[in-house]
Amino acid sequence: MRPFKVIRPVNEKEAMEQVSEDNASYMAAGTDLLNRIKEHVASPDSVVDLKSLPGMNTIEVTDQGIWIGALVRLSAVSSHADVLSRFPAVCETIIHAATPQIRNMATVGGNLCQKPRCWYLRHEGYSCVKNGGTGCWARDGENEFHGIFDNQICSATQPSNLAPVFVAHEAVIEIASKDGVRELTADQFFIGPASDPLREVSLEEGEFVRRVMLPESTRAGSWAYEEAREKQSFDWAQASVTLLLDRGGRKGDHRVVLGAVSPAPLRRSDIEKKIDGSDDEIAEASGIAGAGATPLSENGYKIPMLKGLIGKAIRSARSRKEG
Ligand SMILES: Cc1cc2nc3c(=O)[nH]c(=O)nc-3n(C[C@H](O)[C@H](O)[C@H](O)COP(=O)(O)OP(=O)(O)OC[C@H]3O[C@@H](n4cnc5c(N)ncnc54)[C@H](O)[C@@H]3O)c2cc1C
Ligand code: SF4
Repeated sequence: MRPFKVIRPVNEKEAMEQVSEDNASYMAAGTDLLNRIKEHVASPDSVVDLKSLPGMNTIEVTDQGIWIGALVRLSAVSSHADVLSRFPAVCETIIHAATPQIRNMATVGGNLCQKPRCWYLRHEGYSCVKNGGTGCWARDGENEFHGIFDNQICSATQPSNLAPVFVAHEAVIEIASKDGVRELTADQFFIGPASDPLREVSLEEGEFVRRVMLPESTRAGSWAYEEAREKQSFDWAQASVTLLLDRGGRKGDHRVVLGAVSPAPLRRSDIEKKIDGSDDEIAEASGIAGAGATPLSENGYKIPMLKGLIGKAIRSARSRKEG
């Protein structure tokens, strides 16, 4: 591994100044970043360790919602009594992520900001539009695990399990920036390659995620999270469906967000409209799963996979509602 300097800032201002130096990177638990450094895919001269900053490792329950610090470990979120009782879909997506050991280390901020798993991007020998080069190796290459929607520029998918459920709950992402603090909703935070092929999240130079708020007003009447993956022990999803029914007690305020099929989580309001309690809602909702898809040579299987997952999610959310 190429040597690098570790900087432990004492406050946010120092963290932002240090990371703005040439070739520096933020690090939380390092489960993604250190792998990329070991694989010579990332080679920062210095790493700014966010764990030395105070106040980012707590979960705060308020009347408006639950604030989760960016440095809170995934396992601490999924086992938190209030998150479990108010936002169970969030806990369920975490339980499906990685391994218990990684969930015990990995942080919420790092999960949201991890880099995509495209094997070309994670191999030092390949240059493409996503790392400052041109073209896309996956387009005519090995694209089995790549995206089927919005895949013209880059088909690497958003790897974070938290991303779709945060979009479904309209989570608020609080960002520390040089001008103070700014907030984005999760669907503004995750961006696709048309906005900027080099970034997956809407963070500007020097900015970092401080905390995330799950709004009370988006608590679901019922919910489901379904994913398919190649390996059952641990793996990233090949496709996932997050379904929230009757958010905030508002009948018909549903959310369907697809994961692992596009560069950013994909909300599907056309599918949401088909979930109406009718006898044929499953057939109607799953029947349009592939609308707008542009599958590549090896990933067309994701369309029938999504159809199955949507049906499973509706059945599961309906049965949960009925108790
Ligand atoms: C075997 C394996 C299986 C996995 N399976 C899954 C899975 O199924 N689902 C899933 O979601 N993930 C999966 N992961 C990925 C794992 O969840 C991430 O590696 C982890 O969440 C990253 O968190 P971290 O704190 O270690 O981040 P780090 O590695 O420290 O950082 C990751 C990136 O985020 C940036 N960053 C970190 N914190 C912040 C912040 N607060 N603000 C701005 N930028 C920040 C860093 O600069 C870096 O670029 C898997 C990982 C492994 C190794
Ligand atoms: S899918 Fe994206 S990251 Fe992978 S090779 Fe193509 S452009 Fe690069």
